Amino acid sequence: MNIKEASHPALRILEDLVRIQSVNPHFGEGAQGEEGVAAYLEKRLKQAGLTVFRQPVLDGRDNIIAELRIGKPDSTLLFEAHMDTVSLGSMEDPLNPIYRDGRLYGRGACDTKSSLAGMVYAMEYWSRNREQLQADLVLCAAVDEEANYRGILKFLEWQAPIAGAVVGEPTELSIVTATKGCSRMAVRTKGKAAHSAVPEEGDNAIYTMMDVLRFIREEVEPQLERISHPKCGQATVVVGTINGGTQINIVPESCAIQVDRRIIPGETPDGVREKFTTDLLDYLGEHAEKVEVSELLSDWALNTPEKSSIVMKAGEALRSLELNDETIGVPFGTDASKLQQLAGVPTIVFGPGSIRQAHAREEWVSVEQVELAAEFYKSLAGRFGLKAL
Ligand SMILES: [Zn+2]
Repeated sequence: MNIKEASHPALRILEDLVRIQSVNPHFGEGAQGEEGVAAYLEKRLKQAGLTVFRQPVLDGRDNIIAELRIGKPDSTLLFEAHMDTVSLGSMEDPLNPIYRDGRLYGRGACDTKSSLAGMVYAMEYWSRNREQLQADLVLCAAVDEEANYRGILKFLEWQAPIAGAVVGEPTELSIVTATKGCSRMAVRTKGKAAHSAVPEEGDNAIYTMMDVLRFIREEVEPQLERISHPKCGQATVVVGTINGGTQINIVPESCAIQVDRRIIPGETPDGVREKFTTDLLDYLGEHAEKVEVSELLSDWALNTPEKSSIVMKAGEALRSLELNDETIGVPFGTDASKLQQLAGVPTIVFGPGSIRQAHAREEWVSVEQVELAAEFYKSLAGRFGLKAL
C-alpha cells in the first residue's frame, strides 16, 4: 500500500504522532517525554472546538484532557490512551512513518499512537456533529503508562463522572474485558559477612536465597496451575533479577531477587503478596527471620461485567462494522484496571495492532486496523448514552 491509498484521516494524525518523539523518560538518555505530543494534541483539539486543559502530573509532563460537553455529564464516555512510548531501541528510522505491505512502521505506531489517533479522529468528528451526540465525551491523553501509570492515577483525581471508558491499547480490534494484574515484590535475604577463608564464621545469604527459590519453584509454581481464569489463562510467577554478594572472598551478607507474580481476576495484589509472604516464612521455619518481602509495584486485574453498557455498545459498534464482537481477555496490564478498580468505571480495552508488535524491535500496525479502530471509536461514541437495545 502506498501513501495515497492510505487515505483515512486517522492515518494523517498517526503519522504526525509518530514523528514526535515521546519516549518515556524512565527509559533514560535521549527520551523527550510526552510534551511534544501534548502540545500537538492541545493545539489540534482546541482548533476542533473542544475544551482542552492540561493536568500537570510530573515535571514538564502533563495529561491532556479534552471535553465535548452536550449537557449529559452522567453518561460521559471516556477515551483514554497514553502518549509515551518505549525507547527507540535499534529500530530503523523510528520517527519516520513508513507504509509497507499494508503496515505503518514507526515507534509507537502500534503502542499506542494508533489508538490515540483514532480517538482524536472520533472527538473531532463529533465536535462537528455534536447535535447528534447522546453522551458527553472526554478524551484523556495520559503520560507515563509505560513506567508507573502516574498519568492515569492523576487523571482519577479529577473525579468527573464517567459512565464507561475505552482504553486504547493494541487488542487486534477485539473487545478486552479482562486483563491480568501483577504483584511485584522484592525478596531480600540477610546473612553475616566473613572472610571466605573462614566461612564458618559467616552466614551465606545466597544459600538462604536458594531456599527461597526452591519455595517458588516447588511450592508456588505448582499451586499456580490451579489458579486460572477462562479469559486470561493461568496466574504466573517469574524471578526476573538476582543480586547477591560483593566480592569473591567475602561470605555474602545479602542477596535480593525481584519477583513478578501476574494475578488474574479474583485475586488482589495485596492478598497475593500477603499469602506469598506467610507461606514463604512458614516454609523457611527457623530461617524465617533472615528474609524480608517488600512491595515493588501492584496492579489490579480487570474484569468488566459483560452486561455493562460499555461492553454492549462496543459490541453494537463492532457489528455495525461487520467485525467480530466476541469479548476476550489478555495477559498484559493497562490503564483500564485503574479506572475500574479506583473509580468504579466499567472499562474495556480496544485498539488496532497486536501486542506482539508493541515494544518490538520493528514496531508496526496494520493500516486497515487503524482505519477500522477509528471508525469503531466514532461509532461507539455515537451510540453511547442511549439505552441498550
Ligand atoms: Zn501501551
